[in-house]
Amino acid sequence: MSLAIPQAFKCPVCSTPLSVSLWQSVNVTVDPDLKIRVLDGSINCVKCANCGRTTRIENNLLYHDMDKGFMVSLRRDRVRNEAFPLKGLTLRIVFDYDSLVEKIRILDADLSDFTIEVIKYYCWEKTTGKKPSEFRWDEIRFVCRGKVNNVDSLVFGCKTSDGPQTIGFPYSKYASSASEMCSESSKLFPKGKWHVIDDSLRQHR
Ligand SMILES: [Zn+2]
Repeated sequence: MSLAIPQAFKCPVCSTPLSVSLWQSVNVTVDPDLKIRVLDGSINCVKCANCGRTTRIENNLLYHDMDKGFMVSLRRDRVRNEAFPLKGLTLRIVFDYDSLVEKIRILDADLSDFTIEVIKYYCWEKTTGKKPSEFRWDEIRFVCRGKVNNVDSLVFGCKTSDGPQTIGFPYSKYASSASEMCSESSKLFPKGKWHVIDDSLRQHR
């Protein structure tokens, strides 16, 4: 079920009182239009009728795709434990909006986010030449699966000292290593439990 709650809000620029219907949870199987709004970032944004400024309200948001069998919970309050148990679903917790969108793109493309995070780390290290201790998960993001130089690839966007770079990682390499990594991942992260796929992954490898 998708749920929105009306909330009073003041424009941060001109303090005009505004009313916004704030989405708490979105079921994109039932409401596919909401999926578009989550992915383009327009959900939970309000435009001031007076000064025209658009502001995104920073709130928790639960994303549920019944067809694909996954939920991603955006927790602005950084609470890791969800109150309700759900079996048989892939469940992930993220703490910022960009991570929510990235996680949806990964799971939507039927990719293992565990494997993708490992590949991200590998690509980041090769591209930036930085030390492993300097790794930041938000410096490289999965964008999509697509053609790079006519090769079926996983496409990543990476922040480097020379500016943003697009990186292509051959899908054939993902496919060859994915089954091993996925079986390891499913042992570490069985379906039906909420997990944060973050720095703690590196301790397992
Ligand atoms: Zn305003």
